Amino acid sequence: MNARWTLCNGPIRLRVAESARRDGVLVAVTCGDGAGSMPDLGFGEGDAAASPKDRRRLADAVGVEPGRLVFMQQVHGGQVAAVDASRAGAGLHCRGDAVAAADAMTTTSAAVALVALSADCPLVALWDARARTVAVAHAGWRGLAAGVLPHTVAALVGLGADAGRMAAAVGPAIGPCCYEVGRDVADELLAAGAVLPEHVLPRGTSLHLDLPGAVRHQLLAAGLAADRIDVEPSCTMCSPGVLHSYRRDGRRAGRQAMVVRLQPCKE
Ligand SMILES: [Zn+2]
Repeated sequence: MNARWTLCNGPIRLRVAESARRDGVLVAVTCGDGAGSMPDLGFGEGDAAASPKDRRRLADAVGVEPGRLVFMQQVHGGQVAAVDASRAGAGLHCRGDAVAAADAMTTTSAAVALVALSADCPLVALWDARARTVAVAHAGWRGLAAGVLPHTVAALVGLGADAGRMAAAVGPAIGPCCYEVGRDVADELLAAGAVLPEHVLPRGTSLHLDLPGAVRHQLLAAGLAADRIDVEPSCTMCSPGVLHSYRRDGRRAGRQAMVVRLQPCKE
């Protein structure tokens, strides 16, 4: 673990991004303790919340009512939804009620806590503290190819943010150590300009993709400063008992959550 992410043992185990905390923004990712069960914030059978209890613990840990959490449907696309207090609680109980068709959300409201789910894909928090805007994005390879990150940066700029002033925190994702991809995936990403050749790594007869590196590349290309991008370096697949990994566990994999919330102004 990186000293820039602090481990917090509250109602649920969280890694909290210090760079965000300094800016008055909460960015936290759920994780397991490596010994017992891991919290599962995802949707399970029938699209109901896999563990309502874990969702209540998450809300408690970040200091909001559960009905303030906002989930999105996450379809591996590039669409961004603007969310305000009217969407509080979307997707809390059921995927069908989550923000539709979106893989990223923005808000200027401290009355909601944005949630994204993953079991290998990078989750990305973005914020501009001065403009009081925040976003969360689910950025797997399909989302990267669809431009979810530049679209999210543009959506924040539309809310008054400035890309050069923006900061990002990238949660744990499957690393280049484990993320084998087919030549077709690599070619599609290269053709879209979503990754650079240096992010496609030959490993024997196969190819590995540096997904966190590609995320960083896209954020830089969107205008963020290099020293304002903080990547949590853990590999999900290499972290059994701590982080969920679809590549490792298949259909029985749970989901970790990234929560992003603008902290209310001090009175
Ligand atoms: Zn790995």
